[in-house]
Amino acid sequence: MSTSLINPFQMAQQQFDHVADLLQLDPAVRDFLRWPQREFHFRIPVHMDDGSVRIFQGYRVQHNDARGPHKGGLRFHPSETIDSVRALATWMTWKCAVADIPLGGGKGGVIVDPATLSTSEKERLVRGWVQQMWKNIGPRLDVPAPDVGTTPQMMGWMMDEYSKLAGEFTPGVITGKPVGGGGSLGRTEATGFGVVYTIREALQHLKIDSRNTRAAVQGFGNVAQYAAIGFQEILGGEVACVSYWDRSDRTSYTVSKASGFDARFLQSITDQYGTIDKAKALDSGYKIEDSEAWLSQEADVLIPAALEGQINALNVHDISSRVKIIAEGANGPTTPEADTVIRERGIFMLPDFLCNSGGVTVSYFESVQNDMNYYWPREEVLQKEDHILTSAFHAVLDMALSQDVYMRDAAYMVAIARVVKAMQLRGWI
Ligand code: NAD
Repeated sequence: MSTSLINPFQMAQQQFDHVADLLQLDPAVRDFLRWPQREFHFRIPVHMDDGSVRIFQGYRVQHNDARGPHKGGLRFHPSETIDSVRALATWMTWKCAVADIPLGGGKGGVIVDPATLSTSEKERLVRGWVQQMWKNIGPRLDVPAPDVGTTPQMMGWMMDEYSKLAGEFTPGVITGKPVGGGGSLGRTEATGFGVVYTIREALQHLKIDSRNTRAAVQGFGNVAQYAAIGFQEILGGEVACVSYWDRSDRTSYTVSKASGFDARFLQSITDQYGTIDKAKALDSGYKIEDSEAWLSQEADVLIPAALEGQINALNVHDISSRVKIIAEGANGPTTPEADTVIRERGIFMLPDFLCNSGGVTVSYFESVQNDMNYYWPREEVLQKEDHILTSAFHAVLDMALSQDVYMRDAAYMVAIARVVKAMQLRGWI
């Protein structure tokens, strides 16, 4: 199903409404949390290499800052819409709350295919984004980060632009910066490894030995690559396949190997946009199938780590009976209709804003290190991340078991309670 048929913000509101009903949330609190606190829509003029000027549509949505400054990535994608940014901003509020880090939710974006821009055009575009937004972002206000289509180098340019405008070196205005330019060790692998830490806890809860498990992964960008690598190297499990969107023929493919799948090798033949070199994969004995093949693999764990709406009413019945866990590396990969089927089948759900909260957790560590101007070794960063994600998993599992609810609902219950408490403590409600 095309992701354009799914409105992610309606999805985010539907999920929230369901839990607001369960919690019998006060109508005013509900009204407040269903919508972002504030939104910025702006036009960014960029001087292109050929001398022309192109105008890009940019957004920043600030959903809630009761628990701390707004936090969330910047997505550069041709099908970006205000509703996808609103949904992602809303999920960021729940993500920071479930991980129990002192930050709120926000998200931004630009409607653009970054692969069509030269390096210097990209630099001018991200500096233009900061010129539009700099008075409304900052280490104590709103801290952007990378997401689909944006990179650590782009974050480095944005930090530089903000520092120039603010008149002082301000590394904490943005996270996901390159190491050596204010970035944290461990940030690159943080989201994918975090997915793996939550899978490890789920497998232990279900009393399954990780060394006997197979995972099927959708996507092969930042999150998917380190989820696949971590599944092999941290859990000792086997990866059955990954998938990717090929920009050259605008088609997605699944890449599998009956045995000897090597996620690090595949990473070495993947470009910065998560597109695998098909010819090199075929030469090395990998099989290339159609896009949906990842979902019907004989696997114990499914890891959707591409875009939203990928498991939906049209394909949810293709999930193999062997699947025991779905670990949502992407934001919003499962539509509410598909979620109902998954819940009824008794598949253990690791919901997105719990499962992929490792990225924002290490982004938070990056801001802490920027504030201290003192940087931790990689092992310390990953150990601290593991501790936070393990605690978050158990808070959600305890809620699910004690209230007899689905893991997604339990994650919402934990997150909403923390945000509502902060709003009460601040006297907002
Ligand atoms: P990315 O741009 O690095 O990678 C996206 C991958 O998905 C690419 O391999 C692309 O080819 C693939 N893809 C796109 N459409 C596809 C399709 N229809 N079928 C198969 N593959 C497809 O992005 P990312 O940073 O890895 O983010 C992936 C998801 O994880 C997004 O939902 C993002 O919001 C979420 N997320 C990212 C982070 C982070 O730290 N990067 C943190 C939390 C959540």
